[in-house]
Amino acid sequence: EPTKEIIAQQPKQNRTGYTTNQASHMWFVNDLKHPYNETKRFDWMRGYHLGGRSLQWGRQSYRLSDIDFEANKKEGIAVDWPVRYKDIAPWYDKVEEYIGVSGENLGLEQLPDGKFLPMMELNCVEQEFREKVAENFDGRVVTAGRTAHITGTKQFDGRSKCQFRNRCIRGCPFGAYFSSLSSTLPAAEATGNMTLRPDSIVHEVMYDPNTKKATGVKVIDANTKETFEFKAKVIFLCASAIASTSILMQSKSETFPNGMGNASDQLGRNIMDHQLQVGASGKFDGFDDKYYKGRKPSGIYIPRFRNLGGDSDRDYKRGFGYQGGASRGNWEETIAELSYGKDLKDAVLKPGGWTFGMMGFGEVLPYENNRFTLDYDKLDDWGLPTVTFDAELQENELKMRKDMLESAVDMLEKAGLRDVKGY
Ligand code: SF4
Repeated sequence: EPTKEIIAQQPKQNRTGYTTNQASHMWFVNDLKHPYNETKRFDWMRGYHLGGRSLQWGRQSYRLSDIDFEANKKEGIAVDWPVRYKDIAPWYDKVEEYIGVSGENLGLEQLPDGKFLPMMELNCVEQEFREKVAENFDGRVVTAGRTAHITGTKQFDGRSKCQFRNRCIRGCPFGAYFSSLSSTLPAAEATGNMTLRPDSIVHEVMYDPNTKKATGVKVIDANTKETFEFKAKVIFLCASAIASTSILMQSKSETFPNGMGNASDQLGRNIMDHQLQVGASGKFDGFDDKYYKGRKPSGIYIPRFRNLGGDSDRDYKRGFGYQGGASRGNWEETIAELSYGKDLKDAVLKPGGWTFGMMGFGEVLPYENNRFTLDYDKLDDWGLPTVTFDAELQENELKMRKDMLESAVDMLEKAGLRDVKGY
C-alpha cells in the first residue's frame, strides 16, 4: 500500500491504484515536482529514471495487422498509414527475436503470428475458459498473453529466464522481461561507443536553416540546472508520445515559429490513448484439488473479434481485446470468517477459491480536438512550459466500452462462472 506521504506527493500517479505502492512508487514521478494541467482529467503516468518507460510497461507485445494498417483509408479517418504489414513484418521478427516474447502462434488475420518463445501455460481454469469460449462463440480465441519475458531454453546475453515471481513492477533483477536496462543499454555499452548521461532534460532540437537539418539538442542538467548543447548527425526522440511531441513543440525557430514540423498545427493533437478499466470478474466452482506453481506474470489474451468477418453490424468502428486470468485466493479470505483456534489454522493452510477477471483494451480514434498544449505561464522547476491536456473519449469509444463490458459478462457467464460482475 502507498503511505500517506507517497499519496501526497504522487496524487496523479496514484490514480491507477496499483503502481504507487511502497515497492514501486519510485518508478513514477513526483507530481509536485513534475506537474501537468488538465482541462479534462487525463492520467499521464511516467517516470524520469534511466530505462524510462521500459521499466514500467505491461510487456504485452502484439503485432498490428493489415486490418489495422488499412482501417483509416477504408473508413476515411485521419490519414492512411504509410506502410502495410509486409513492410513492418521483418522488423517485428527482428525485435521479437532480440527482446524475447513468449506467446502462441494462432494463424489469425487480425493478430499476426510472430517469432515467439514458448507461451506461458494457461492454468486449469484458464484452460477451461478457453474451451468454453471456443464452444460458445464462433471464431473467438483465448490464448496466453504475448509477453516480453524470456521462457524456454534460448539464451539471451546477460539475461535469464523468467522466475514466475510476478514482481515485475519493481524492476527485474534477472533481466527476464525486456527493458533497455536489461537488454539494449548493455549491448550499446559493449560496443564501446556509448556515452550515457542520465538526469539530462532534452527540451529543444536545434535546427540549421542553411543546411535545413537538425543539428543537435539543448539539454538542462536536472540536478545542477547547467545547460548544454549536444551536436549530432542523427537524432532520435524517444521520450514517449507526449514528451517527444512536447520537445518538438518547444523547438521554435524562424523556420518553425510554431514548433519543429508543426506547420500543419497537428503536433499535440489526435491523442489516442488505450481505453481500459472496463471488464468483468466472477467466481469459478470446481478444480478445488488443482493449484499452479509460482506467480505467473501474465494471463490470458482474447484477440479482437468485433467488426471482423461475419461480425460487421456494430454501432461503432474498430475493436478491442481482453487481458485477464484466473487465480486462487489465499489466507486473506479467511479473515472475514472471524474464526480462531484450530479451525483458523486449518483454514489459512488451504488455498482460497478460484476467481477469474478480464479487462478490455480498446482503440481510441484520432480526433483533432483531443490534444495537449504547452502552458508558458506555468513553468516547471527548470523553466520549461508545462503540458495541459484537453482530451476525452467520444461516442465511438463510449459505445465500444458498453460492448466491452457486456461481452465480458457474457463470456464469463457462458463459461460457467458465478457471481459475474461487470465494471
Ligand atoms: S516474474 Fe520475476 S523474473 Fe519474471 S520478469 Fe517479472 S520480476 Fe523478472
